[in-house]
Amino acid sequence: MTTPVKRILQIFWGLLLLAIIIFFTYLPTFVDKQFNVLLEMEAPTLPDSVKAFHSSLRAADMHDDILLWGRDLTEKHDYGHTDLPRLRAGNIRLQVFSVVTKTPSGINYQSNNAETDQITLLMIAQMAPVKAWYSLTERALYQANRLRETAAGFPGQLAVVSDRKSLNNLLNNSSPDKIAGVLAIEGMHALDGKLENLEVLDRAGYRMIGLAHFFDNAFAGSAHGEEKYGLTELGKQAFREMEKRHILIDLAHASPRAIEDALELATRPLVVSHTGVKENCDSPRNLSDDQLRRIAATGGLIGIGFWSGAVCDSDVESVVDAMLHAVEIAGIDHVALGSDWDGATREEISADRLPWLTAALLNRGMSKDDVRKIMGENLIRLLLATLPE
Ligand SMILES: [Zn+2]
Repeated sequence: MTTPVKRILQIFWGLLLLAIIIFFTYLPTFVDKQFNVLLEMEAPTLPDSVKAFHSSLRAADMHDDILLWGRDLTEKHDYGHTDLPRLRAGNIRLQVFSVVTKTPSGINYQSNNAETDQITLLMIAQMAPVKAWYSLTERALYQANRLRETAAGFPGQLAVVSDRKSLNNLLNNSSPDKIAGVLAIEGMHALDGKLENLEVLDRAGYRMIGLAHFFDNAFAGSAHGEEKYGLTELGKQAFREMEKRHILIDLAHASPRAIEDALELATRPLVVSHTGVKENCDSPRNLSDDQLRRIAATGGLIGIGFWSGAVCDSDVESVVDAMLHAVEIAGIDHVALGSDWDGATREEISADRLPWLTAALLNRGMSKDDVRKIMGENLIRLLLATLPE
């Protein structure tokens, strides 16, 4: 080989090696920072009485997607919305950790198909097990494992809770700094089209499953899908099976027809883990007053989100507006926090900023007992009543 050709090859291999190093080392964190943005918040000094009241709460939130990004949960970060130190700072006692297993490129609220998938590259960059490169069920197991490994490494800070007894035990017998983590899934495509995989996910500890995410799947239509159909025959079978297994059914992102079918079939409480209300913010993913009323009538719970797609802004007052409307229509026992922290969202209220939400609810005239319910007690009550023994 001539010397110039050799040089060019050397440069080529050098650049390729550099690209590989960047891909595996920096890409996952780069993507995490790009997608999960912490916005500036006006944070007036809080009176000591409000701080003390917030510290006396058992805060609980229905929706956090942090497990997708590979972020170290145990370190405090200056981007995104959660990690264990910030959850503790916000006085969170229970957090539902939801896993995302497939998202279409060009993702939007109006219409998406299932052909593309942005998560595959992320799984490879995170060096997830090869099975998780192509199986969505494996992606869910991989992310559940991430939470379990953190809990095993830091038993004083976190426990994965999937039954009533361990939740009771954690709430009553452990330090208030220890957080109960409950596993959830966004969209039944995570079953890879197979009803049998429900058992696999049940055994992995999953206790809440959303019917659909951004596209229609074999079980149910999405509010953002192409056809937006209701529950399929397979979906109805899965619905009954989830009720039998005491897995909560989450209607967030479900199409209006799928919500209708679910309301018709439900014999147990239905939840909407992260949403807004159409009255305040007319989005395809938000709930009408009729839906709010009927979901509450199942004994269920509506988690109000903190991002602009749910409340049409991201400031604390917009979140409170949506909460007050939901309370007015659904009743105080049926509204909860549904932050969508780290769900590829831009938010002002990160976990450690929850005291300002408490302050805003009190400022709007809500009683302390009612604030307590929304901030956590409603979700804790529902889980203590519905988790398997
Ligand atoms: Zn979501």
